[in-house]
Amino acid sequence: MSDQARPRLSCEWLHACAGCEMALLNCGDRLLGLLDRVSIVHFPLLMDHKYGDRAGAGFDLPRAEIGLVSGGVASREQLALLRTMRESCKTLVAFGTCATHGGIPALRNQWTVDQTLRTVFPEDEGECSSAFDGSSFLDRVYGIDEQVAVDLFLPGCPPRPETIVGVIEALLAGEQPQLTEKSVCEHCPTIRTGKGQRTVRRFLANAEYDPGEPIGSMRCLLEQGLLCMGPVTVGGCGGGETPLCIRARVPCRGCYGPVRRNGNQLLDMLNALASNGIDHRAIVDRRSLLRFSGAHGLLKPPEKRR
Ligand code: SF4
Ligand code: SF4
Ligand code: SF4
Repeated sequence: MSDQARPRLSCEWLHACAGCEMALLNCGDRLLGLLDRVSIVHFPLLMDHKYGDRAGAGFDLPRAEIGLVSGGVASREQLALLRTMRESCKTLVAFGTCATHGGIPALRNQWTVDQTLRTVFPEDEGECSSAFDGSSFLDRVYGIDEQVAVDLFLPGCPPRPETIVGVIEALLAGEQPQLTEKSVCEHCPTIRTGKGQRTVRRFLANAEYDPGEPIGSMRCLLEQGLLCMGPVTVGGCGGGETPLCIRARVPCRGCYGPVRRNGNQLLDMLNALASNGIDHRAIVDRRSLLRFSGAHGLLKPPEKRR
């Protein structure tokens, strides 16, 4: 197929770390196969082309059948870029948990812009603090669906490489990509007895397991008192098999975001702890349960919490 005849793929990053793009590049042979079928027209990680006036005169992005946007929206420039992506892409995919739920950068939402800047650039460091007056920042970090219409949500920090390619292949075939709606727990083979340890153990405490035994012989980490967010996190990281962190015998930290797209991992986790007989008062910082999903107004500065 000639380059012009291929469907076009556009990829843009906002308040992001490039991990989602690296995951796409990490797809190996399947990515090479995909390159025969799509024409990548915009991908800042790979292509150095000029696409806009950074002073605010607007962006000029090529039209594309599929648009991937990673990262949440934290600044006016990112908002303008996102709107341009929406206008230029037929199908817009929220690519990764920062885009779907704010991700780690949305931890900023616990503070005002002023508080954040004063913390990151204390006044005694002069130059930096005066360079950032805060006017380019939005009041908080937004998931991209809070600002534009989104056609598909692909969570993960980052999403699994095979899943990313599978989603693009399905869209190219005109099909609806199939993503799991089950929780991490539903993919986890550990043993559950229904009786949890009453207090939460420190994160760095080791799980109890026999390294010579398969994962399926290990007792559920949550029942061991470790703060495993598997019950309140959507699955997919293990590709339908044992979730990645559980394979390493460490608790799920919630990086795929809530099971229901509009769910609240903090509230859902407090419920999960209660139903496992675990005392939630042992959690030092409850807001950390929203470490991957603090957009959509769930994490707020102190004056808005009351
Ligand atoms: S979802 Fe994770 S990997 Fe992707 S941009 Fe955000 S922090 Fe990076
Ligand atoms: S809470 Fe964690 S260890 Fe227990 S079943 Fe769920 S994912 Fe597995
Ligand atoms: S187990 Fe949880 S934290 Fe670990 S990769 Fe999977 S979803 Fe993310």
